[in-house]
Amino acid sequence: MTPLSPNDLLHLFERRFGRQPILFRAPGRVNLIGEHTDYNDGFVLPAALDLATYVAVAPREDRVIQVHSVNLNADFTADLGQPQSPVHGWSDYVVGVALELEKSGHRLKGSDMMVMSVLSMGSGLSASAALEASVGYALLSVAGAPINRLDLAKICQRAENEFVGMRCGIMDQFISCHGVEGCALLLDCRSLEARPVPIDPKVRILVCNTMVHHQLAGSEYNLRRRDCETAVALLSQTIDGVRALRDVSVPELETHGARLPQTILKRARHVVTENKRVLEAVAALEAGDFIETGRLMNASHESLRDDYNVSCPELDLMVELSRTAPGVYGSRMTGGGFGGCTVSLVDAAAAEGFADIVGPTYEKETGLKPMIFSCYPGRGAGPVVL
Ligand code: ADP
Ligand code: MG
Repeated sequence: MTPLSPNDLLHLFERRFGRQPILFRAPGRVNLIGEHTDYNDGFVLPAALDLATYVAVAPREDRVIQVHSVNLNADFTADLGQPQSPVHGWSDYVVGVALELEKSGHRLKGSDMMVMSVLSMGSGLSASAALEASVGYALLSVAGAPINRLDLAKICQRAENEFVGMRCGIMDQFISCHGVEGCALLLDCRSLEARPVPIDPKVRILVCNTMVHHQLAGSEYNLRRRDCETAVALLSQTIDGVRALRDVSVPELETHGARLPQTILKRARHVVTENKRVLEAVAALEAGDFIETGRLMNASHESLRDDYNVSCPELDLMVELSRTAPGVYGSRMTGGGFGGCTVSLVDAAAAEGFADIVGPTYEKETGLKPMIFSCYPGRGAGPVVL
């Protein structure tokens, strides 16, 4: 983590560019339940974190965007007047957003930018969406354009799909743009309707970073998407109106699943049961039934591990250790998988002791010092008032 405040970023910018910037931020996220369902038109329940990516920005006279990343101590420039192609680095996220904004009809100004994130990158907390949304918000503001959060989320997703080459769903960009303080959001990834689900102060959301990130993550992600498309193609031959796995119910899959190859059936079973779990978890959370919410989170992890095959030994260990800690209702991997973070629902009275119980045992067994923190759901992208 970079131990810098937004105020420090402002001063760094002034020193480097010799003028005063305006500041924007967009948060990372933790997904409580509903993993690998967004690109199947399904349901998800993410919360924006109070940890964000910050962008300091000041317009230029030309059409050049010049960006410095404090985290990477790296720079790039790109001329929006010239054709741009991906370079397979961090600048792709920024340039991709700028290009998609222009494609959607916005005429951008050249800008000097400095970005700084307090999210660890590549840990499944969606530093990528936070970078996209904060940069998108900043570029629109500098251009004097009105900001439509849903359009911005879609533009950021398109940038990641098309310029970065990661076929992610809409969840990360949506929650980074729409986060509501104190709430998770139940998002229907087909209609893009969202409903805030307040997090009762009787519970805390604990995030544990396993500190591993297996290289498989990106390639396996795209393979899972293909498996889901295969399942849809086969199931739509015998069930009417199936456009996505969202359209298949658990009983329908039980009846028609036998015609699927074993691996495809497992992938479909995860998605179909996970969609049901999300809706049940929302009902349980709203009823204050944390035991049931926790049970569903545990079932989600088992399904991701055994049917979707996207867990790894470190995630399984962290989940197992978390579940034995006092006051824990449930624990699961969160994010795409193959490393990154777990999320646990913990009784507020027990939350403070959680890290001291889980952390040392995880470290003893893996040799890795995990990062464990309690997360209070924060707001979506916007200007920073210092
Ligand atoms: P996650 O979104 O889970 O953090 P990703 O691999 O999707 O993981 O995105 C991380 C990538 O986003 C980094 O490798 C980097 O290219 C880019 N990125 C995110 N934040 C920053 C930042 N502050 N400065 C430069 N690049 C960043
Ligand atoms: Mg990402």
